[in-house]
Amino acid sequence: MKPGPTVQVPTREDPWEMALRQFNRAADHLPLKRGIREFLVYPHRELTVNFPVHMDDGSVRVFTGYRVHHSTVLGPTKGGIRYSTHVNLNEVRALAMWMSWKCALMHLPYGGAKGGVAVEPKQLSRGELERLTRRFATEISVVVGPQSDIPAPDVGTNDQIMAWIMDTYSMHRGHSVPAVVTGKPVSIGGSAGRREATAARTRKFALEGAQVVVQGFGNVGSVAAYLLHDQGCRIVGLSDVYSGIFNPAGLDPRAVLEYVAQTGRVEGFPGTQTVTNTELLELPCDILVPAAIEGQITRANAAQIKAKIIVEGANGPTTPDADDILTDRGVFVVPDILANAGGVIVSYFEWVQDLSSLFWTEEEINARLEPIMVQAFKGVVRLAAEREVDLRTSALIYAVRRVADALLVRGIYP
Ligand code: GLU
Repeated sequence: MKPGPTVQVPTREDPWEMALRQFNRAADHLPLKRGIREFLVYPHRELTVNFPVHMDDGSVRVFTGYRVHHSTVLGPTKGGIRYSTHVNLNEVRALAMWMSWKCALMHLPYGGAKGGVAVEPKQLSRGELERLTRRFATEISVVVGPQSDIPAPDVGTNDQIMAWIMDTYSMHRGHSVPAVVTGKPVSIGGSAGRREATAARTRKFALEGAQVVVQGFGNVGSVAAYLLHDQGCRIVGLSDVYSGIFNPAGLDPRAVLEYVAQTGRVEGFPGTQTVTNTELLELPCDILVPAAIEGQITRANAAQIKAKIIVEGANGPTTPDADDILTDRGVFVVPDILANAGGVIVSYFEWVQDLSSLFWTEEEINARLEPIMVQAFKGVVRLAAEREVDLRTSALIYAVRRVADALLVRGIYP
């Protein structure tokens, strides 16, 4: 079933294939029995729902959505909900697996999950978006809950959509359940610092005057761009789903945000040259932040990337073939599960605050976030040197080992 209007996208490497290849690379470094290795890799549960929504023109449209729990070994599952025409079961599976490794690497008491609806949210009215969200929340409520599976924003979703999910779940329960979802508005139990957290750690890699290109101008890319700008970096290129903009003299991301609020896209921002998303990735720069979607840096373009450092704001932006090319060329890749983990860490803080009904200041949030990220980064760098592997493989070895250890201690039921 293919619901709704679809936007043409180039064929991308299958994300699930990518996730499996990455997992196998890491798992080969660990003494895992075959059955344990198999159990670690396959998604634990997968829910597919087809559901109707009343459209403004009086018609009814059926949409397809998913919620996948990859691993429940370390705790309740955690992971975002994505609204995009790309969404399919394999994409959600891969994203759920990456959440398992990200949570394990950051020592969060969570397994990994992900959800999504195949829809272009920009083509829906606000009313349609709310009805779709409330119906999808109801459909997945059989597997979601504050003690079992806690969604959050991802590509194409935001704090308003989280508010509708929280409200829908609460209406069914008869009382407010803020801890069922994170990334909510602060007024209903969201956390200080959540919005900026996903991108915050890119600061560590920022150098005064470094030239930066950011692909994607959503929840992660826009924040990464202005935080890096505030740190003295020169943002020379930016892009959204339509196209990119380039100005070697640098541009102000906050001014671009204002421009996008008016025009709906980055193209045409005064003083910039328009480039395609492909050209954007190959622009001369020191740091490249792919913060759009998976499968952007591939065998086809990895050799042309000029950046010396790649900080993965998106999940899965680099394919395993591209990883090999970049490693050979000495490009320093900070992998997704390390680079963008700030978001889920502050999600964890939000959940803890909601469960305890006691809220922390932004200073407290940042003071707790910092040591978790620094410790994970040091651990990954140390293990990479020990095993003589790249940072992605190191991060995955670390994370998979943590889940495997917990699984062995828990034992196989019955
Ligand atoms: N979607 C975000 C991610 O990929 C956040 C997940 C969460 O906070 O649960 O990490």
